Amino acid sequence: MSKHNRITAYIHLDAIAHNFHVMKENLREGVQMVAVIKTDGYGHGAVPIARMLESCDYIWGYAVAAVSEARQLREAGIVKPILVLGYTFEEDYAWMAQNGIRPTVFTVEMAQKFAECQTLLNKDSDAGRPAPVHLAVDTGMSRIGVSDTQEGLNTALAIAHMPSIFIEGVFTHFARADEKNKSAAIGQMKRFAAFCDRLEENGVGGFLRHCSNSAGILELPEANMDMVRAGITVYGIYPSDEMDREAIRLRPAMELKSHVVYCKKIPAGTPVSYGGTFVAEREMEVATIPAGYGDGYPRSLSNKGNVLIRGKRAPIIGRVCMDQFMVDVTGMGVQTLDEVTLLGRDGAEEITVDELGALSGRFPYEFVCDIGKRVPRTYCGA
Ligand SMILES: *Cc1c(COP(=O)(O)O)cnc(C)c1O
Repeated sequence: MSKHNRITAYIHLDAIAHNFHVMKENLREGVQMVAVIKTDGYGHGAVPIARMLESCDYIWGYAVAAVSEARQLREAGIVKPILVLGYTFEEDYAWMAQNGIRPTVFTVEMAQKFAECQTLLNKDSDAGRPAPVHLAVDTGMSRIGVSDTQEGLNTALAIAHMPSIFIEGVFTHFARADEKNKSAAIGQMKRFAAFCDRLEENGVGGFLRHCSNSAGILELPEANMDMVRAGITVYGIYPSDEMDREAIRLRPAMELKSHVVYCKKIPAGTPVSYGGTFVAEREMEVATIPAGYGDGYPRSLSNKGNVLIRGKRAPIIGRVCMDQFMVDVTGMGVQTLDEVTLLGRDGAEEITVDELGALSGRFPYEFVCDIGKRVPRTYCGA
């Protein structure tokens, strides 16, 4: 599959395209999608993914968490709308307004400062168009957003009436849509819909309603509304182990591959790696793999977990170091420079993010986000 490298993340763009396709098939006709590509596309690389999606008609745009992420996309020539899902600081507002970056607003002060920036920009140009913002509504996360009370409504109305900006979207975020029991998510959805209705009764309309995250897309079709925000599912990972894996079959987008750099026999009684936490009980063959927690491969996989070599599982022995770890390859005929699969497929065997997440005590989202900058990404299948 590859030239030799310490460790490489292969990103299968065809799997990502497949995941969008199967999600889209589960949506009501006309519902648009936001591709959530924060944390550099959950570790997969935001720019190549956005490039692939630029020409896709049902993708409204992208969502990120930081203005720096939006900047990286614009610098790469990405033109679709970009929504920053979290708080943004006023230092960035002028650049955001100029570049079609939608801030999430939820206080009068934020919206006012953003509107002032757009007013200044409009003075310098003939166009004088208002800038789009998205209003966050808190219906159960207690994170950001106006509350769905009269007070929250007053804030929303004040923002809606500001010059130089307009509410392009109103959204909320589910806290528990990934659970089998959807009653909490349905409760949030109803509160959100009621809040949007009250905005409309007060003369504010024409905005996009969006509340579904990945879990909502998969299992809560009644929450489609105008638009949905697809995150973890883009990358072929299910939001939780309570989600049905049969109804919509996602394909994992990331594989991690390495190569054996050293093979040797050790006699019984030989300790392996820091702390001597593993001691050979018999003579064994040991292979050294040039990857470690410095690459985001969790140290908590020490003496747990496997890699695949020649289509077979080889167990990790001893502690995972920053840049290397050892596996037991006794009787496997392994040689130096054999390919090693840390994540993904080799023949009939597969190591999934779910498996590594469970073994390492890392949340699957966290596992892929934490694959380090030192790991080169290679894009295939486009
Ligand atoms: C991260 C995030 C998403 C995507 O969540 P997934 O569970 O990965 O689909 C959607 N909306 C908001 C507001 C987010 O912060």
